Amino acid sequence: MKVRLGGYNIDTKTIRELAGDRYADMTPEIISASYARISRDPRDVGLLRDEARKDVEKARKSNRAIVFGLGHSSIAEHAVFNFDVMGISRLAVESVEHFRLASFTEKSQRYIRLGRDFVVPEEISKAGMKRDFKGLMRELSDAYQIVYESIRALGAEDETAKEDARYLMPLATTAQFGMTVNARELEYMISRLASHPLAELREFASRLYGVAGRIAPSLVKYPDPTEYFKAVPSVRNEIREIAGNKKSSPGGDGPSAILVDVTPDPDTRLAAALIFASTDMGHSESMRRAAKIGKRRRTDLIASTMKTMKPHDSVWREFENVRLLYEVIVSSSCFAQLKRHRMATIITQDYLPSLGISIPDSVRKAGQVGLLREVASTSGRVYRKISSRVEKARDYALLNAHRRRVLFEINLRELYHFSRLRSDIHAQWEIRQLSDMMCDLAAEMIPSGSILLCGKDSFDQRKKDLFG
Ligand SMILES: Cc1cc2nc3c(=O)[nH]c(=O)nc-3n(C[C@H](O)[C@H](O)[C@H](O)COP(=O)(O)OP(=O)(O)OC[C@H]3O[C@@H](n4cnc5c(N)ncnc54)[C@H](O)[C@@H]3O)c2cc1C
Repeated sequence: MKVRLGGYNIDTKTIRELAGDRYADMTPEIISASYARISRDPRDVGLLRDEARKDVEKARKSNRAIVFGLGHSSIAEHAVFNFDVMGISRLAVESVEHFRLASFTEKSQRYIRLGRDFVVPEEISKAGMKRDFKGLMRELSDAYQIVYESIRALGAEDETAKEDARYLMPLATTAQFGMTVNARELEYMISRLASHPLAELREFASRLYGVAGRIAPSLVKYPDPTEYFKAVPSVRNEIREIAGNKKSSPGGDGPSAILVDVTPDPDTRLAAALIFASTDMGHSESMRRAAKIGKRRRTDLIASTMKTMKPHDSVWREFENVRLLYEVIVSSSCFAQLKRHRMATIITQDYLPSLGISIPDSVRKAGQVGLLREVASTSGRVYRKISSRVEKARDYALLNAHRRRVLFEINLRELYHFSRLRSDIHAQWEIRQLSDMMCDLAAEMIPSGSILLCGKDSFDQRKKDLFG
């Protein structure tokens, strides 16, 4: 066996320093080109890479032929980029982090005290609403500072004050994030965002292409908006017309969750998957055995996979055979965290001011619910005004406290991972409440499969209760 390092990502400054005059030739296309030839050329991949390095244009030609000509698209996944992104709104970040095959690390509004940095969207300036919008932004950041100070005055930690005062901040607040993405996903991201109704996202797509199209033209080849993606808003309107629409009634002031659907007979399905993988029986026979052994032995069978488990271990892949579909209502603050779970299928509605706002306990204790409601109401007025002129840009005026409905589909294996992080004591309060609700609902329907569904902090105790 031989394992050799073929390449790895290093920062651009170092590449520039090392490459000198050859900087323009530095491209991850070399890696893709050499791997692309592995399937048809018996020579050592190191030699294939040397060839690609010697003649970059030839390597590009080969990439184009293999990735786009033959449709062997996964070749483009071997080229990876890191992007520093600054000065983009939180609202736009939601659409960027929609892409599941990329990695993100974002400035946390939980750990950083916010100032007056926000985006003024092109649509709002063009609609002559800049003054209203900036007035709202000023009002919100003043209110944020007041609420932050009031929570601190109660003796709360700085982190709690920042974590909860941010519920008053708008979705136009600027963010900063690092993104690592391969060329295949990047091309898809660019094309989709270039077709987006918001100018900010179209600009983002164009900036991404400005960089990636220069460095890896053979792998990011179709960056243009498409009629298919551009049609999405009008198709949604058609769907609304066909289905009709009904005003939503306000929820409470915290998160809520309903378990809409779950794999039928989930414990048996899970036990059957474990039997299937551990024996020579087909799936039907495994189902019959799983049903026949009864509830207690099914629980023992499932529990046996967890005997040596530690809080950071994931449950076995067989748990993925059980799927759960939740309908949840969460604030934008909570959604910012929820959307980061890339193994889930997340379908969102628009933010609906009629769903009310989420109210942190500390804001209540600090006597600032009135101020939160007041700024939410101003934000609602500006939202409606923007909506009447340029509907697509209205969400910039909403707060982190505003809410939306989300369909969240997740398999049981990923729900374990989710609960470890989000039902844990270190998790932010709203997503912790949500995670606890989701786990309780799962436990009702999947009593055996959910035996160790809990946060990292309660794992040891739960395991002790289970195994002694
Ligand atoms: C206490 C806490 C604080 C946080 N603070 C911040 C913060 O300040 N800034 C910030 O940006 N985020 C923050 N996060 C979010 C965090 O970084 C994750 O994005 C989020 O928890 C989702 O977890 P995940 O990536 O493990 O899950 P998922 O995306 O649901 O993935 C599930 C699992 O699949 C695997 N997986 C998925 N994608 C990949 C991949 N590309 N490569 C390898 N394995 C993969 C991993 O095993 C992963 O655990 C915080 C999270 C917590 C719990």
